[in-house]
Amino acid sequence: MSFGFCGTGGGLRGRGGQGYRGKEEEVFDKGCNIPHHFYAGAREDSGDKRPKVTYVPPPLPEDEDSVFTHYKAGVNFSKYDEILVDVSGSNPPHAIMTLEEAGFCESLMTNVVKSGYVTPTPVQKYGVPIISAGRDVMACAQTGSGKTAAFLLPILQKLMVDGVAASCFNEIQEPEVVIVAPTRELINQIFMEARKFAFGTGVRPTVVYGGINTGYQIREIMKGCNLLCGTPGRLLDIIGKGKIKLSKLRYLVLDEADRMLDMGFEPEMRKLLASQGMPPKEERQTLMFSATYPEDIERIAADFLKPDYLFLVVGVVGGACRDVEQTIVQVTRYSKRDELKGILEVTGTERTLVFVETKRQADFLAAYLCQEKVPTTSIHGDREQKEREQALQDFRSGKCPVLVATSVAARGLDIPDVQHVVNFDLPNNIDDYVHRIGRTGRCGNIGKAVSFYDPDTDGKLADSLIKILSKAQQEVPLWLEKAAFSVQGATGFSPKAEAFTSFDSTKIENQPAAQKEDEWE
Ligand code: AMP
Repeated sequence: MSFGFCGTGGGLRGRGGQGYRGKEEEVFDKGCNIPHHFYAGAREDSGDKRPKVTYVPPPLPEDEDSVFTHYKAGVNFSKYDEILVDVSGSNPPHAIMTLEEAGFCESLMTNVVKSGYVTPTPVQKYGVPIISAGRDVMACAQTGSGKTAAFLLPILQKLMVDGVAASCFNEIQEPEVVIVAPTRELINQIFMEARKFAFGTGVRPTVVYGGINTGYQIREIMKGCNLLCGTPGRLLDIIGKGKIKLSKLRYLVLDEADRMLDMGFEPEMRKLLASQGMPPKEERQTLMFSATYPEDIERIAADFLKPDYLFLVVGVVGGACRDVEQTIVQVTRYSKRDELKGILEVTGTERTLVFVETKRQADFLAAYLCQEKVPTTSIHGDREQKEREQALQDFRSGKCPVLVATSVAARGLDIPDVQHVVNFDLPNNIDDYVHRIGRTGRCGNIGKAVSFYDPDTDGKLADSLIKILSKAQQEVPLWLEKAAFSVQGATGFSPKAEAFTSFDSTKIENQPAAQKEDEWE
């Protein structure tokens, strides 16, 4: 039996036919220190020679079964209630204990029930009343614990109750809600969730992101747009074209907020806030959600929120999901492939997401696994959008149970039945580690994460890994403790035992922009 490798063909061609590029090469043009993504939004006006994107995605299924398709909450769903919740800030509203207490209107409640929701998760119990009360919020909750519904439901409730203007075929659309997220796949997923909860109501969500023909997206927007989901580059592009006016905006949501405000995206977010018609923070509600919040990002985030915003923390800021069994395996650079093969022999057809650090590595590893007759596909920023979507679909359907990915797939993606995550390469910061392993163990299901630790390259993570493992009540290997100790001994670095929120406050500055470029057309 041979497995067609649906993975690397387009990747080797590179984006826009620019050839095959390594991690550093793709971020900076020769002789130029400006990452591509800083000007990507302006490409159509700036004489950028990259070919025009013509891809138009296939139409979405409209039937109820497809819209409401969902996977089941896992055995540990009820354990969410044991997680400690902390709300800081003045006069927080009371949490709700049941979905009924949320007081959703009939059409919204019908859609919530059709989505298989019976009880709210903690971030929903606290987040929904905070947002319904009109408060700004910075919310931090572990991966896979229902953050998307926590912000979508109270927003949709408000729009449904207040009523939205039918804006079909208006040349300029004026959405009441803008949601931004860092990757195309994630923003599309949020859009699909919004579409599900708004099904059969007058509220119309739309989505814009790179890699898809802009004209097509503008035509979609013109059919009516109350809730606009977008990645920053394409969003700014379409606002710049005068197709979107922000003067009616009531809600601005930043999902994966720490990433949206880090060094790569903060300028774009500030540009968005400075867009013509954007209501000042006093006149809109700003909602930020993530599973991680480095301290320096918390400070920037506060600039975007009203002074009386609430900080909602479910569990430990930046903590890993306890439903993921974490194993760290000591390897050498040359033993990784065999280790991976050994793991895949055991996992068989169970879905396994393998993370690597570079696009080149993603291509090589996926090609290697295919040669070894393991049905594998890959996703990274140099693949065409059509190929990225195909890869996800093949992974979701089980046609390719192994997906090799860069960090472009690290955040937010909610793929049913991902039983295993393998960090073939460890990321260079601990927050990415938390997000990556959070692709499994979602919604109360149990997952496994195996990470290859190469002492030659991963020493800097040893201390943060120990903290993450112990806070998630996982076994810490003795050799890892020794490794952390020897790194501290060598550098004189002393970990701040109590400061779980600040594993490594320099990580944002040190983070390569490689994966950030993935979000941009
Ligand atoms: P999220 O963290 O928003 O990506 O959600 C993770 C998964 O949990 C998604 O598949 C959601 O549809 C699902 N989910 C979220 N909230 C609930 C709930 N209250 N009951 C059942 N499933 C939920």
